[in-house]
Amino acid sequence: MKKHSLNFGDAWEYAPAPDSTPVVIAKSYGLFIDGAFVSPQSRKTMPTINPATEEVLSKIAVASAADVDKAVASAKKALPKWKRLPAKERGKYLFRIARRLQERAREFAILETMDGGKPIKESRDVDIPEAAKHFFYHAGWADKLDYAFPGREAKPVGVCAQIIPWNFPLLMAAWKIAPALACGNTVVLKPAETTSLTALRLAEIFQEVGLPDGVVNIVTGAGETGAALASHKGVDKVAFTGSTGVGKLLAEMTAGSGKRLSLELGGKSPNIIFEDASIDQAVEGIITGIYFNQGHVCCAGSRLFVQESVLEEVTTKLAIRMQSLRMGDPLDKNTDVGAINSAGQLKTIQGYIQCGKKEGALLHQPNHRKVPKKGFWCRPAWFEGVQPSHTIAREEIFGPVLAVMSFRTPEEALKRANNTPYGLAAGIWTDKGSKAFEMASQIKAGVIWCNTYNRFDAASPFGGFKESGFGREGGRQGLSAYLELV
Ligand code: NAD
Ligand code: MN
Repeated sequence: MKKHSLNFGDAWEYAPAPDSTPVVIAKSYGLFIDGAFVSPQSRKTMPTINPATEEVLSKIAVASAADVDKAVASAKKALPKWKRLPAKERGKYLFRIARRLQERAREFAILETMDGGKPIKESRDVDIPEAAKHFFYHAGWADKLDYAFPGREAKPVGVCAQIIPWNFPLLMAAWKIAPALACGNTVVLKPAETTSLTALRLAEIFQEVGLPDGVVNIVTGAGETGAALASHKGVDKVAFTGSTGVGKLLAEMTAGSGKRLSLELGGKSPNIIFEDASIDQAVEGIITGIYFNQGHVCCAGSRLFVQESVLEEVTTKLAIRMQSLRMGDPLDKNTDVGAINSAGQLKTIQGYIQCGKKEGALLHQPNHRKVPKKGFWCRPAWFEGVQPSHTIAREEIFGPVLAVMSFRTPEEALKRANNTPYGLAAGIWTDKGSKAFEMASQIKAGVIWCNTYNRFDAASPFGGFKESGFGREGGRQGLSAYLELV
């Protein structure tokens, strides 16, 4: 195992290349209710910081139950007119939102990176374009719902409460808002407390395109605001993406209320490499699977299963590849690994790394790169000698920490892949189509990638099995979460 600490494969330093496009951030932001930014009745605010520098970017409002009540009332008031609007008119609004997002893409990408810590190349190439695509895709569905569900009448559900996490702030807002509006619902959205700025800027786009007042309302705040929203009597549907713990609370909160519920929760997804795979390609897939967005990805390939005959080759190549990952200024175009989203999340991740060592797994972390002094940073890590019983092999870490294990036969890989309370995603790497299909048909996961990882498309439904939640987002299947089919 000595070779893992060799420095060959080191990346040379590049000159800094930060994106210097200026982005104006207001000193404070109110709530977006009934088409306007308003001060919260609570008079409470909280800072949102840049996790790479700990600099305070702005102050955002903390909505109280009274503020949430105003937002729900506004969504309720807007509902009758919005759902009666000819479907193709609703579609036009969604098209306009998508186009405006594309026009302002650079600004959104920089803001996303500043508020959340992810590398600019990801917000620029993934988050913002995918968010725009989601609005484009659903714009197309608005006047075709009768074709999506032939023989049924598709009616909106009503007022939708949507609560989202901090790992893909704008993209999750798009995943929630676009299908809801296409289907004729109105919305109250609550972004995550560390990353509300791009959702608030999206509200500016709603104003620019003349979206009718009250069709989308945005309330900021933490868990209490979310709970006030989900439990509000005026809400017809709750859509949630976040942790399994909060998902279970919401299931209790909405039980017996008649509210519809969809949950997108955590994961501990297996990434399985067979001996007949293209190993170089698979190693790249491991990197994309777990180090993309610092591992803040619900479907991250955090459990790596490698067929025993190629374990040595894969781990050696992985170690070399990891030496070349560049960690640092998220605004720098060459950065591969950005900042951890918050001090709290960093502590959680470090706790898991300690736990992995204590339980007897062997930690590897490329250590030749300087960790910036300010901000929240975690060097990408992987463990070998992991047992299925180890905590790091069972619990979601939501950080750049990979558990590497081996297997001998496809049957064993399958059993171990499915041995988890989660079922969000999986990766399979093999040269044999039949093997890929056979595995895919038996792995209990909502999304299965073959010879790739972490690819998304608005047309393909995303969602989980078991404790990873229920309901789908994207595709025709995602529409039904926002429709009453009669
Ligand atoms: P979290 O559950 O703590 O927070 C998610 C959102 O819920 C935030 O907006 C938060 O303010 C709100 N919230 C917190 N407590 C609440 C309560 N009691 N009632 C109502 N709302 C409440 O999760 P997080 O730590 O922000 O996000 C990370 C988790 O999200 C991970 O477990 C990850 O797997 C999951 N996630 C899943 C998906 C998916 O699509 N399946 C996508 C992204 C993240
Ligand atoms: Mn922030």
